[in-house]
Amino acid sequence: MTFLPNPASSSRMTPDQELIDTTAQLIESEFEERLATLGQLVRIPGIAWEAFDANDLERSAEAVAQLFRATGVFDEVEVKRAVLGGIAGAPAVLASRKAKNGKPHVLLYAHHDVQPPGDADLWLSPAFEPTAKDGRIYGRGAADDKAGVITHLSAVETLKKLAGADFDLGLSIFIEGEEEAGSRTFRAFLDENKGKLAADVIIVADSMNWSPEIPALTVSLRGMVSQVIHIRTMEHAVHSGMFGGAVPDALIPLVKVLASLHDDKGNVAVKGLKSYEFEDLPYSEANLRADSSLLPEVSQIGEGGLMTRMWGKSSLTVIGIDAPSVATSSNTLMPSASAKISLRIAPGQDPHEALLLLRAHIEANVPFGARLEFGEIEEGKAFMADSSGWAAQLAKNSLGAAFGNPSVDIGIGGSIPFIADLTEVFPDAQILVTGVEDADSRAHSPNESIHLVGLRNAMVAEALFLLSANQLQAD
Ligand SMILES: [Zn+2]
Repeated sequence: MTFLPNPASSSRMTPDQELIDTTAQLIESEFEERLATLGQLVRIPGIAWEAFDANDLERSAEAVAQLFRATGVFDEVEVKRAVLGGIAGAPAVLASRKAKNGKPHVLLYAHHDVQPPGDADLWLSPAFEPTAKDGRIYGRGAADDKAGVITHLSAVETLKKLAGADFDLGLSIFIEGEEEAGSRTFRAFLDENKGKLAADVIIVADSMNWSPEIPALTVSLRGMVSQVIHIRTMEHAVHSGMFGGAVPDALIPLVKVLASLHDDKGNVAVKGLKSYEFEDLPYSEANLRADSSLLPEVSQIGEGGLMTRMWGKSSLTVIGIDAPSVATSSNTLMPSASAKISLRIAPGQDPHEALLLLRAHIEANVPFGARLEFGEIEEGKAFMADSSGWAAQLAKNSLGAAFGNPSVDIGIGGSIPFIADLTEVFPDAQILVTGVEDADSRAHSPNESIHLVGLRNAMVAEALFLLSANQLQAD
């Protein structure tokens, strides 16, 4: 059964000033303590990649479980693994508490595993030693996604203190342990623990805000399709001095078909692909050039707003070509060549449909009747949040109140594959992808960090959301 708020309780959809002040003060008074806890988590290098010590991941899960046990609000807090194909996944933290008196149920998701530290020489302070500097805390996982864990913890503690330990809101916690390693058993975990995870609202605190002062909801993720193509023109290689000029080598049709994938302005030329319009945000061409290291004499590609091109439209990249290397090249007509094409697809686009459109384009554009064979494919779903529900509205109001600026909608040009699993297993749940990171967080890179103002604002926003949801009446 899906929770729908009674229109009479709609005043609860906007946190009032008294609630905002009380919440902000409480979170401020406990902020140092929260940062100390974040620091303890950063010191545990829990990495879900085979080359790293699995004991650290275990310690990381246990430390997180202990934090949620200490809140005293959950019936049970477990460290659990799902098994897929006979191999156990990484330890996740699972906790839940049932809703009472017809209130909604909220699932809080984050992940406790982190990326490997990478090159130690590039870190200005040790990767697993939390270091405060210039209003930020540096350390691997300080942002991605231990800040998400701490934000959830702070929101739950604040709910308990301000609404009383006997609050009515249903609450589940799922802190994954293998997000950075591809969430291999994520779907199996959802299926095995469906009863405890089922919720009206799922808050995924693993994205970014626009800045420490401007909050954002991540409303879309592009999906992805890839296709390997093999082109053949002859049974075997021949001398280019003898047959060149009459017989096409495989690279000519391959290069021509790859060139046909973009028009002269750099738009993706595959017909029929969907796109979605984003409002432009304060992000200039200079920002783009600086962030991407685009050379000054090279132009941008594609038409339309920058946000729309990077988040709302498809983009196509040739990510690999198999052909003789320059070092081993000879004056030969090569009989075959291959390429891998990666197509990011717009939110709202079905990946299989996109794959078929891409294939139709390729088939229509291979010249000289060269033999075309389709090889390996990948398909990853896109995500488009339904922003019309009560939870998105309440989230925007809470974010606006906490940050002091209205929330903006942002997209992500890449994908978070597990979001598709959430929408499939819980089709009726409203999914809110919220941020803890900011544009300077450098998740996955050396010198990862979290901005303290942004972190505190994120905590206040999530606490306001839970406190308000706890007061909504069902219709
Ligand atoms: Zn993350």
